[in-house]
Amino acid sequence: MGAPELEQTYAAAVPDLSTPWRAAEVAEPRLLAFDDGLAGELGLDAAWLRGPEGVRFLTGAVPESQPTYAQGYAGHQFGSYSPVLGDGRALLLGELVAPDGVRRDLHLKGSGRTPYARGGDGLAAVGPMLREYLMGVAMAALGIPTTRSLAVVATGGVVRRERPLPGAVLARVARSHLRVGTVQYAASTGRLDILSGVADHAIERHHPAARDADDPYLALFEAVARVQAELVAQWMGVGFVHGVMNTDNCTLSGETIDYGPCAFMDAHDPRTVYSSIDHGGRYAYGNQPGIVQWNLARLGEALLPLIGRAQGELDGQALSEPTEAAVEAATDVLARFPEFYDAAYLPLMARKLGIDADAAGEGLRGIVTDALAMLTAARVDHTRFFRDLAAGTARDLFDDPAPFDAWVQRRDAVTGSDREATTAAMRAVNPHVVPRNHVVEDVLAAATEGDLAPFERVVEALRHPYDDETTVPDLAHPAPQTAAPHVTYC
Ligand code: AMP
Ligand code: MG
Ligand code: MG
Repeated sequence: MGAPELEQTYAAAVPDLSTPWRAAEVAEPRLLAFDDGLAGELGLDAAWLRGPEGVRFLTGAVPESQPTYAQGYAGHQFGSYSPVLGDGRALLLGELVAPDGVRRDLHLKGSGRTPYARGGDGLAAVGPMLREYLMGVAMAALGIPTTRSLAVVATGGVVRRERPLPGAVLARVARSHLRVGTVQYAASTGRLDILSGVADHAIERHHPAARDADDPYLALFEAVARVQAELVAQWMGVGFVHGVMNTDNCTLSGETIDYGPCAFMDAHDPRTVYSSIDHGGRYAYGNQPGIVQWNLARLGEALLPLIGRAQGELDGQALSEPTEAAVEAATDVLARFPEFYDAAYLPLMARKLGIDADAAGEGLRGIVTDALAMLTAARVDHTRFFRDLAAGTARDLFDDPAPFDAWVQRRDAVTGSDREATTAAMRAVNPHVVPRNHVVEDVLAAATEGDLAPFERVVEALRHPYDDETTVPDLAHPAPQTAAPHVTYC
């Protein structure tokens, strides 16, 4: 098969938002990680990609005839608006339609400076790229929508950070790289054809049902709100802290993107923050649903000029002031975000806790909230609690079991009548292993020094999060109490 044929339908649909650009040449490419399973799902020739030509391809050495692009986007970063961000060190190699019929982007990170690089060097280090690879594996195995990594290739070059580090290029796969920030960027051009071009592309690719709605662009807004609500509900379920939920890191497809400073929580606590730059705790674990809604408000604002209009009748017109009716309609959708979130979150938590949602009825929210408050008060490990609850051993996690005994009595009153089925359902959503921060840091440090074996073992273990037996037992337990608090960097 050899090199895949890649398309560029996004750049063709809205040429003004992408810049043709080539990847920097890589002197000594060396494959560090490659996901054969993902290659298979994408219908790619894994044997070729692992070979010398393929590895070069994975760093952006594609034939002259194939254009590649840096994509523009804007974004609110920690609440402040940056009108021009974009792929500063990334490149869209192209799109392919996988055997499952889904169009996906093949994208590079760390492929050199682009016109969007501003002060950045366009490079990426081995550690953070392997981290993104590992996190994508873990999230996909947990059944959470996510961008995934096909490969990490060492460049042989040096990246200057606090200290010199080995460089790498990540090859990433996503349903698309359309972000809330992409729509903000499109709106900022003041051109209706560009804004509608992005919105139409997002409808075709991610939310085709919106096409048939009375108000397609309002329906697009609602569809993104729903997939983002479902996504953040799943993050909350597994104790995932994204860490940098800027509007440019919030996809229209509903996939998790940008594994920079993310981490899984040990002790359950809504105030949990890991990122070294999140001083105010804006992106703390417990704030995440509210931040998604905030990001959606920015999306709604950007889409306002389209709301109330039909598709395909918008060419060449300048953006006009949004109508009052459009503002009202978008505000109504946004106000329903808590409803979208609860519709995903409450059934998930019922399942995790072994509750029959119908039996619990209106009481469900209270039992869930009280369970989490109990975990916070006793500083109980998030992942262990849910898994051990399924095993019937969660009581042992509490120094003082009295609050647990009281809570579990209430739970038992609304649990499913079929004990075995309830337990099986709990085990299928409560992982035994997650990417524990201390383990991840250790294997990335070893990989940076050239020893990939521990990284490979951990990645393999993370592919089976729901098995009782794990090949890396440390992934099943929180960091030892003596460990320093975990801090993550972008
Ligand atoms: P992020 O924090 O990863 O979401 O990135 C925010 C913005 O900074 C994006 O526009 C990135 O492309 C850009 N960026 C991050 N690191 C670099 C780098 N080393 N060189 C150039 N641009 C970068
Ligand atoms: Mg980003
Ligand atoms: Mg990043």
